Amino acid sequence: MDNLISWQSTGNDPGRRKTYTEQVHSLDKNLGAFLQFDPEKGTHLAKEGGHLEGVPCAVKDNIAVKGFKLTCGSNMLKDFISPYTATAVEKLLEQGVLIAGKTNLDEFGMGSSTDTSSLGTTSNPWDISRVAGGSSGGSAAAVAAGLVPFALGTDTGGSIRQPASFCGIYGLKPTYGAVSRYGLVAYASSLEVIGVLSRDVETIRRIFHIIHGVDPMDHSSIEHIPSGEKRDSYRLGIPAPGDQLDPEVESVYTDVIEAYRDRGFDTKIIEIPSLEYVVPAYYTIATAEASANLARFNGIRYGYRPEWAENPEELMRKARDEGFGDEVKLRILLGTYVLRSGFQDQYYIRAQKIRTAIRNDLDRVFQEVDMLLSPVFPTPPFPHGEAGLSPFQQKMADRFTATANLAGIPALTVPGKLSRGLPIGVQLMAPPFEEERLFHAAEIMAGVLPIQKPPLFLDME
Ligand code: GLN
Repeated sequence: MDNLISWQSTGNDPGRRKTYTEQVHSLDKNLGAFLQFDPEKGTHLAKEGGHLEGVPCAVKDNIAVKGFKLTCGSNMLKDFISPYTATAVEKLLEQGVLIAGKTNLDEFGMGSSTDTSSLGTTSNPWDISRVAGGSSGGSAAAVAAGLVPFALGTDTGGSIRQPASFCGIYGLKPTYGAVSRYGLVAYASSLEVIGVLSRDVETIRRIFHIIHGVDPMDHSSIEHIPSGEKRDSYRLGIPAPGDQLDPEVESVYTDVIEAYRDRGFDTKIIEIPSLEYVVPAYYTIATAEASANLARFNGIRYGYRPEWAENPEELMRKARDEGFGDEVKLRILLGTYVLRSGFQDQYYIRAQKIRTAIRNDLDRVFQEVDMLLSPVFPTPPFPHGEAGLSPFQQKMADRFTATANLAGIPALTVPGKLSRGLPIGVQLMAPPFEEERLFHAAEIMAGVLPIQKPPLFLDME
């Protein structure tokens, strides 16, 4: 049966909904995917009669859903209830989708492990001593563990694709502007987009078709021109290996390249010189935008309020000092540094030039190939805490994913193989508006490398 339709009774039938809620609460004790799980609350928003009536979904907690919390994983917003609903979520509600809960994330989307959340720890359903990735780690863990058939995430530099890879599922970062950002709490506005995570490609396709479109509330939203015809095979560009990969990632990546070749795809090694500068350009632009976007959190209109302050100046200082975690503070400082007067030429403007060079390089590459196939992240899912990757190592590891954000192109994580019991995915990237090409290439691989169930899994059958 159609995967989504098989979920309808879960949301529609009050008895089933109750059992479902209890089962999710019990499994999520070990997983920590949700910051709030409350399908009953979701029923107050749900609209009757849509194609997906009663189908539950999870929403990353930096996307607004009226009446639900909107914490961004931050102490700054830990008690904040959203007074309105994001456009992408509104479109789901029109189809009858039931919002079941809000998922954990790195604070304001800043990180690759979900461990920078101030409000909870999310673990990987394949091995709870490891991270689920980030920043949409809660959405990825919830989907991989079978708690919901799909989830919304956001992707500024890889935050949908990297946790999807770590949890062994599909994750789509659409073309920039294809999905309205109205109702997404901004981190780096020129880079980010709302997208979908699921255990099957067809669900990703369907949900993407529902949530995309021009929105008068977001002036960067664009008409999505439907992409071209399906073909039996495509030309795949393989970016020349710039630096080392973990051997396990390398081996899965090589196997997937081989599997595509076996299916008749042409592969070609592609030189993309600007890729070397992706990480510095991404972190310059992302932190610059973050320092402006997060200026609104001053403890006055909403958000965290310190117990006591002598004057408004002190109130703001204390609110920001006590409300933000270390990673967020670091990024605001970095962003302020790169934007300070007299120094913009050295950092921000230079990063924008690199961004243009990356776009030009990719335009050229897409004359020769239909898609790029790359790793998602250079390591397998890493352990929580000290045994894992340092914040600096995590940033350096964004090189494969942040490319698509700088260029605004669509990209999809496709589950690859398990290596020592942990999933490792690969990434397909296509020219703007060519999401359909990504789905099709992923479907071809789904027959060869089927998706698997992790040890922590809720079977709703
Ligand atoms: N890891 C990246 C960062 O920390 C990606 C974040 C994201 O896409 N929201 O900025």
